[in-house]
Amino acid sequence: MRNRHIPQRSCVICGVKTSKRELVRIVMTPERECAVDDTGKRSGRGAYLCRRPACWDAALRGGRLASALRGPIQQSDHERLAAMAADIRTAAETAGTTG
Ligand SMILES: [Zn+2]
Repeated sequence: MRNRHIPQRSCVICGVKTSKRELVRIVMTPERECAVDDTGKRSGRGAYLCRRPACWDAALRGGRLASALRGPIQQSDHERLAAMAADIRTAAETAGTTG
């Protein structure tokens, strides 16, 4: 038996290192569309966020996601990401791991 390699990535806000599938990949496509990348295969500049609500707050409100992606996030895309952040907050509150 040999160890299977699990790709690791870091959250751009808190820097926690974990397996890729525990993180949410946000991608800025060459068309300047910023979206959640469910497949992990979209081309463009990617940034990973963990599922802590605090990280999403910092990423969106603090503009740190835009700087990680090296470009401004359009209003409509920002609203979609904010909705995703709200889902993550709800999930965290349900699991009792807020913060
Ligand atoms: Zn984080």
